[in-house]
Amino acid sequence: MTWVKSDSRLAYSLYRGLWSGLDLLFPPVCGGCEKPGARWCSDCQGRVGILNEPVCDVCGLPQKQAGTCNACRAERPPFHSLRSWSVFENPVRNALHRLKYRRDIGLGEALAMQLAEFVRGLNWPIDVIVPVPLGKQRLQERGYNQVGMIARPLALALGIEYAPKALYRQRETRSQVGLTKIERHDHVRNAFQALGVVVDRKTVLVMDDVATTGSTLSSSAEALLSSGAKDVYALTVARALAHHMSHA
Ligand SMILES: [Zn+2]
Ligand SMILES: [Zn+2]
Repeated sequence: MTWVKSDSRLAYSLYRGLWSGLDLLFPPVCGGCEKPGARWCSDCQGRVGILNEPVCDVCGLPQKQAGTCNACRAERPPFHSLRSWSVFENPVRNALHRLKYRRDIGLGEALAMQLAEFVRGLNWPIDVIVPVPLGKQRLQERGYNQVGMIARPLALALGIEYAPKALYRQRETRSQVGLTKIERHDHVRNAFQALGVVVDRKTVLVMDDVATTGSTLSSSAEALLSSGAKDVYALTVARALAHHMSHA
């Protein structure tokens, strides 16, 4: 298996090298504040809103004490744990918006470096990284899945297999803005299917850009587990906390 690792490390340095070369030709702007110079500047890095510890060891929401929160104890989510790098607020919010609408691949790579640090610290036993997919229609409109722009370089940086097609949507879902937790859950239930050949007996890291209630990740995890995945961990770049806070 050693050659696989060194092969991916070579791919990774070529990838990094390509971006450093392009930066000399076209100086980048920061995805968080649009200041020229870096794709992700040190000011923005310093302003990343880390979720306050302690968080629930399952759903990752901040709470008063360590352990599993009441909601997760009442109904355990299908994923092992969900963690997010940042609170869904600026500068990360801007950066995710930019990834979604401007296809800033270099920014995806810069953020993936930050996430790689974060994921290493979690010490999760992951075999493969799978992004939450877009529906066919949305993929056609946008032309790319913005989650993949972070998930792919993240997998490269961690030396973990990347499987962008392991999960797919069987039906389109609408925007979930304004839906309650229960409505969201019903809305995305059975929205996904997974390819057993890719995930069978593997521990999967399913990744999305933003989580609110975690219902999309729950539905993804259900699909992965019913296709034979051994366990599923969930990661998002950001966590929207408004819903949680309005109930706190
Ligand atoms: Zn910045
Ligand atoms: Zn919880």
